[in-house]
Amino acid sequence: MVNTTIKTTRSQEIFAAAQNLMPGGVSSPVRAFKSVGGQPIVFDRVKGAYIWDVDGNQYIDYVGTWGPAICGHAHPDVISALHTALEKGTSFGAPCVLENVLAEMVIDAVPSIEMVRFVNSGTEACMAVLRLMRAFTGRDKLIKFEGCYHGHADMFLVKAGSGVATLGLPDSPGVPKSTTADTLTAPYNDLEAVKALFAENPDAIAGVILEPVVGNAGFITPDAGFLEGLRELTHEHGALLVFDEVMTGFRIAYGGAQDKFGVTPDITTLGKIIGGGLPVGAYGGRRDIMSMVAPAGPMYQAGTLSGNPLAMTAGIKTMELLQKSGTYEYLDKITKKLSDGLLQIAKETGHEACGGQISGMFGLFFTNGPVHNYEDAKKSDTAKFGRFHRGMLERGIYLAPSQFEAGFTSIAHTEEDIDKTLAAARDVMSTL
Ligand SMILES: *Cc1c(COP(=O)(O)O)cnc(C)c1O
Repeated sequence: MVNTTIKTTRSQEIFAAAQNLMPGGVSSPVRAFKSVGGQPIVFDRVKGAYIWDVDGNQYIDYVGTWGPAICGHAHPDVISALHTALEKGTSFGAPCVLENVLAEMVIDAVPSIEMVRFVNSGTEACMAVLRLMRAFTGRDKLIKFEGCYHGHADMFLVKAGSGVATLGLPDSPGVPKSTTADTLTAPYNDLEAVKALFAENPDAIAGVILEPVVGNAGFITPDAGFLEGLRELTHEHGALLVFDEVMTGFRIAYGGAQDKFGVTPDITTLGKIIGGGLPVGAYGGRRDIMSMVAPAGPMYQAGTLSGNPLAMTAGIKTMELLQKSGTYEYLDKITKKLSDGLLQIAKETGHEACGGQISGMFGLFFTNGPVHNYEDAKKSDTAKFGRFHRGMLERGIYLAPSQFEAGFTSIAHTEEDIDKTLAAARDVMSTL
């Protein structure tokens, strides 16, 4: 399928060549647009709320490099701090005071974190945390939820969200059964299922990991009492509660979903926003748990580029910008306008739809809903979403190329951007 109303010749040439060079032509699967049809556009540059493709088309961006661009792309303060840091070198592989600065900011912000370890991606953070849960409890089993994504490590590739959901992959080949034998799954928002798993596996479950607000099966919020219930159950069974806040950290609120919902887990994983657009992940938690990590304790985990000065700099500057008063109120206001607008237009144009937002994170499913879990999300009309996505792209609106991904706004998005987006949506939905 070729775009009809915008010129994308250069994007097509580059993507065609890429397919010969890299599997599927991309460095990460969802980017290939497989689930929405058509060809991906190839980016040339990004600034504020906008992106430009290699053919010169401009788009309003609601992906924000999958979350990190919460201050808008290439914020002048971040770029200028990076220029200064760059002059001092790109990597030390040794202690650097910038790590202290970002660590203090993270510890101040996130209720559960008393000590933190920096890594290079969300995947790495989640992998390390699983090892830590097992090391601390001396137990092997873990509970995860269907449709939640915790990176691409073997143990988590069971009923995972994001690209796994987008591409409808059952379980990836190459993941030995033995690796996932200890991974138990439950439907999201289903406390009874979690209770049953604890009952069936006495003294064997190291902990429960979840996205406290799901973004990798589309946007799904926790039902009232769900997070609290997990907190109680894990306490009761001597297991750890882990919030994977790689997406929700500094996004749902400055202190993450745990701050927003007032439920404090034992361990938290972070990524995306704390890197300010450079590769960073982190995990942290209670001091007694984190003291297990080498070299303070025996649990091994390391990284050549971890704590990288450029990545720390981008993270610090981004967090400073987010601390300005009114940030999250503004994100909430414009994103609510967008989300309410989309639902209203869907209703007026006769489409089944549901969705919502918290702060600068939103989602829209083409199903009547309500969507409480991945099974509900899968009832969405994904073919319709594909047509919607393409129509929006042709009108200069860049949405995540999958029904099963959340959308993101930034403080660079204006009311006018939202108005333009809603006008485009009305146009597209009238012809779907
Ligand atoms: C993005 C994401 C990850 C993986 O992070 P990467 O940096 O892509 O490895 C893990 N968990 C959640 C909740 C995410 O959204």
